[in-house]
Amino acid sequence: MRCNCGCNMDQDLEKNESEAKISCPKCRIEGIGVPTDVLRSILKGELLEHVNQDSRYLLCLNANCEISYFPTSNTRMFTTSDLKRPIWFKARANPQIACYCNNITYKQVQEAVSVRKLTTWKDIVGSYRKKIIYKCNKLNPTGLCCTENFQDVVHKAKLKSKANS
Ligand SMILES: [Zn+2]
Repeated sequence: MRCNCGCNMDQDLEKNESEAKISCPKCRIEGIGVPTDVLRSILKGELLEHVNQDSRYLLCLNANCEISYFPTSNTRMFTTSDLKRPIWFKARANPQIACYCNNITYKQVQEAVSVRKLTTWKDIVGSYRKKIIYKCNKLNPTGLCCTENFQDVVHKAKLKSKANS
């Protein structure tokens, strides 16, 4: 299945399946493999020297674990406070970001839905940004397209604004 946000990414996780068996060293929950480019673009600048180019990196999917990315090799892992921007599904992420390419927060999505009655990714992002960027494979913390989670935020915002009206 292809996404519809315009990054034109293949959403199938098949290519990651073989990597999905590696667990976070701290919480022991399986992580997902991410391109090293993703790690490099979200990591604080002063930590880039600790990225091991020969290693693969995985993202810890556990909301309550402070580890963000961990290597398959025996080198340094990173916590959520090593990142320039929070990962939306981690506990205490602030702000929660719905679209990393265009830096749109949950709050902005909620406002677009409840005040301006917008519902599509394109309309919402377009209402905040003149120039829309499509670089999920590099800017999203998972390396995957943000559309699915974005639509989920829109859906919840719709329910909320209905309940409040
Ligand atoms: Zn973990």
